[in-house]
Amino acid sequence: MFNKILIANRGEIACRVMETAQKMGVSCVAVYSDVDATAKHVQMADEAVHIGGAAPAESYLKGDVIIRAALDTGAQAIHPGYGFLSENPDFVDAVQAAGLTFIGPSADAIRKMGLKDAAKVLMEKAGVPVVPGYHGDNQDPEHLAGAADAIGYPVLIKAVAGGGGKGMRLVERPEDFATALDSARGEARTAFGNDAVLVEKYVAKPRHIEVQVFGDGTHAVHLFERDCSLQRRHQKVIEEAPAPGMTSEMREAMGQAGVRAAEAIGYKGAGTVEFIVDASDGLRPDRFWFMEMNTRLQVEHPVTEAITGIDLVEWQLRVAAGENLPKKQDDLAISGHAFEARLYAEDVPKGFLPATGTLTHLVFPDNCRADSGVRAGDTISPWYDPMIAKVVVHGSTRAVALETLNRVLQQTEVAGTVTNLAFLGALTRHEGFASGDVDTGLIGRDLETLVQEPEPSDVTAVAAAMTALDLVDVDPETGFSLWAPLHRAVQLSRRDDVLDLDVQVDGPDRQIWQVGENRVVAERTAGRWMLNGTPMPRVAAHNGTLTVFTDYGQSFDVIDPLDRDTSATGDTNVIQAPMPGLVKAVFATAGQTVQKGDRLAILEAMKMEHSLLAARDGIVAEVLVEDGSQVEAGAALVRLEDEA
Ligand code: ADP
Ligand code: ADP
Ligand code: MG
Repeated sequence: MFNKILIANRGEIACRVMETAQKMGVSCVAVYSDVDATAKHVQMADEAVHIGGAAPAESYLKGDVIIRAALDTGAQAIHPGYGFLSENPDFVDAVQAAGLTFIGPSADAIRKMGLKDAAKVLMEKAGVPVVPGYHGDNQDPEHLAGAADAIGYPVLIKAVAGGGGKGMRLVERPEDFATALDSARGEARTAFGNDAVLVEKYVAKPRHIEVQVFGDGTHAVHLFERDCSLQRRHQKVIEEAPAPGMTSEMREAMGQAGVRAAEAIGYKGAGTVEFIVDASDGLRPDRFWFMEMNTRLQVEHPVTEAITGIDLVEWQLRVAAGENLPKKQDDLAISGHAFEARLYAEDVPKGFLPATGTLTHLVFPDNCRADSGVRAGDTISPWYDPMIAKVVVHGSTRAVALETLNRVLQQTEVAGTVTNLAFLGALTRHEGFASGDVDTGLIGRDLETLVQEPEPSDVTAVAAAMTALDLVDVDPETGFSLWAPLHRAVQLSRRDDVLDLDVQVDGPDRQIWQVGENRVVAERTAGRWMLNGTPMPRVAAHNGTLTVFTDYGQSFDVIDPLDRDTSATGDTNVIQAPMPGLVKAVFATAGQTVQKGDRLAILEAMKMEHSLLAARDGIVAEVLVEDGSQVEAGAALVRLEDEA
């Protein structure tokens, strides 16, 4: 086994890898960018090396700097995590050329699976069913449109270099093909520098079921399947293992196809073979097709660990160090059911806008595995993925595990940023999901209901107000008699609403609150506050922001009566950055006439691109930024001439 390894990543996956490595007695070197100097993965590591600026291109993507750090610290191997350099074959070559071990597959295996078209050709040869479609070299639009006709609509256009759902377009009708092709190509060019596409049959009632494989370079085993059909815009939201409704016949067929795929490329280490399944007629062994192989440890690997009892990172280290596969296929078995929910800092009602902020409070309940790269006090910055944690639960049956997930999400406490907790919670209560009737369209169909956030109840508002006015820990002996005023009022804001509350303090243990028309009586017995007869929920307070931990967390800001109207100017003259990010493109030029709704710029923040639109008709007076500028939230990007 290695004595020391370097982890070329950050966040939760860097922490995840270190946890196992350290348990195995392997010393860990972390690398970090400017903004990560005090990050959790740096603190966990035995040593840490600063590698550059916040932008990934200046740090986590700098293969040469990372290899130098490994050599300087005496690390023998590099674990790439996922994302960043994990699927970069040139990096693998460079690691090996430096005399180090890459904890993962060979450069050759990564190259073979790197482009979706070439991978499909290879898989066809290996006898793995692939999605019917055109994955040849001819990129002529006419030819591709002809291929789409031959395949039959609906079809999916995919960037051959694609990933993360980018460069992909569903086309329902022939007359939409040309436009969709253009936009898929444009996105692929920006994201991957390669605008080649393939066209495939869009599978009916699609389910995403993937097989975890593990190879030693010659032979491979599979560790069963994961169902990742709960997706929003082709991005996974909740994953589970095993797949609901899976039959032993289909599992056998998919497992074997996964093993064939891995062995066809001499795969070494952990990998995932993704299949698309037509579930319109239940799960049938003749209705699954290869989509792509991810040649790395997958984000959702913990659900497989939960049902097999195997530590995949331990296997990665052992196999990379030259050991045999720790188990044979027949020694592997499934126990119970597991779910993983991806907890993100994002503003769900605002179209899942990635959010930033400092986590003032972060608590997970005991009966789950929470893989996280952040702690209370850490900041979700605009530089990286806004994931806060992966919440993983295990139960004896699917129903038990789902109930646990539901409870765990309700008991998870996050303050300091908005999160998708309520959305995840709504999913755990979705009837179709509960019955196992999943497909990749489930979230999209019921989006409107799923994104509705519960309105705070009067009790919730009172809990926030009591905390804001310091009326929770009134000391019956001294505090109350010394200072408590009989009447106080407070204004709280929540999103666009302002709540007026006032209170009559009847004694240290009794308060009568008025919330608009409604009354809430707060009474304390045996040291515990009851609000209208229900226990007062927990509240975290930080700098005038109160987060009440009920309904997945409800936040309020205290409106300081001395400091009104400082925010939102409602100015339609200036197009501002809604959050910190990178200006990807500016379309406006000075003197140009624009109409309300015209796209003036694109801001990239985390994994998403956001179009910034003109708020009214007008003439561009000034463009204040250029492509590539990094801007703060609220920065003025484009100014329109004053209205005549
Ligand atoms: P998975 O199917 O495991 O979610 P993805 O290919 O969507 O795989 O992404 C894997 C991980 O790689 C993501 O969770 C993210 O951390 C990282 N990643 C993917 N795309 C990007 C990107 N464009 N920028 C930064 N990180 C990315
Ligand atoms: P990426 O590299 O972006 O992960 P994939 O090829 O893995 O791209 O596809 C991402 C998602 O798009 C899948 O999980 C699935 O939801 C959907 N998808 C892909 N191919 C098809 C298809 N042929 N029919 C229906 N849905 C598909
Ligand atoms: Mg994929």
